[in-house]
Amino acid sequence: MPRRSKLLLVIVMAAGILVAATAQIRKPAGVLQKTRAYRFNKIRDDVYHAVGTGALTVGANSAIIINENDVTIVDTHISPAAAWVLLDELKGITTKPVRHVIVTHFHYDHAHGTQVFGKDVEVIGHEFTRDMLLHDAEGKLFKSYVAGLPASIETLKGRQAAETDPARKTQLDAQLESAEANRAAQAEVQAVPPTVTIKDKMTLYRGNREIQLLYLGHGHTGGDVVVYLPKERILCTGDLMTNGTSNMIDGFADEWVNTLESLKKLDFDSVLPGHGEAFTGKEKITAYQTYLRDIWIQVGQFKKQGLSAEDAAKKVDMTAHKAAFPTITAAGVNPQWVARMYEVMDLPKGSR
Ligand SMILES: [Zn+2]
Repeated sequence: MPRRSKLLLVIVMAAGILVAATAQIRKPAGVLQKTRAYRFNKIRDDVYHAVGTGALTVGANSAIIINENDVTIVDTHISPAAAWVLLDELKGITTKPVRHVIVTHFHYDHAHGTQVFGKDVEVIGHEFTRDMLLHDAEGKLFKSYVAGLPASIETLKGRQAAETDPARKTQLDAQLESAEANRAAQAEVQAVPPTVTIKDKMTLYRGNREIQLLYLGHGHTGGDVVVYLPKERILCTGDLMTNGTSNMIDGFADEWVNTLESLKKLDFDSVLPGHGEAFTGKEKITAYQTYLRDIWIQVGQFKKQGLSAEDAAKKVDMTAHKAAFPTITAAGVNPQWVARMYEVMDLPKGSR
């Protein structure tokens, strides 16, 4: 082959590879970009907490850690669409490439955008998270979420049709559009298990940045990883500690208290939770430990009395905690949480 043709062939092949690489991150279904989907709340230089604005269903928060030459992202949101928009809006604060994605736990609202980051990115999570995303990617939380989507869209449609206030109607239009887009986005999800797993601890050194990944024990799931920046005194907690009360459907409510005790021993100022706004200090964590102890004791008593999980869920009264957690307005908790606590209470000793 003449030299020139060879060169041409190389160029064509290189272009083909480039097309293949960009094809991986083509625009997924369900992308809405009329207004910004994320607020990048600056915690300190080069560390941001990405929180959804409500313009798109994004699920959980993520943390953006901009290092000397690259970017580390903690959690990937609810769908390929949500992660795609995150990456697009990220261009507003950095042009550095994302090299590491840390998945705090397997739940869909934290892990279902991972595929958008492509194959050049190392995905890091606990070995339990890998196991779940490999063998039980749907998980009971995702199954019940997807099953509930049509009904929640119908409810929104009903409210939108009945609304007479024009401003509220416009708001409901936007909510409905976001909900429909999110439903379309779910069809494209392909769970991506971590390519690097941790058992207890690992540290990433990126330039002069130290990023610790720590597993401190059972809590919100069987494998929650927290991300700790010791120099910056920042902690990303996923759903092990949110700004409110966490979902308990896969939790270990009793051990969770001890895990949070270990968390409190770290030296930090700012907490970037998986849901809700960032906060400072340890008081909220202590309040949540009190909540967990209380719910565990109440559920245990109802179980002893022979109540079904369903009946116990109606009787569990957490209103004593509403000063710390204002979303608690009345007695009664999610029956799936109680069913999970019954399940954990029945686990044979040593089987956890
Ligand atoms: Zn979760």
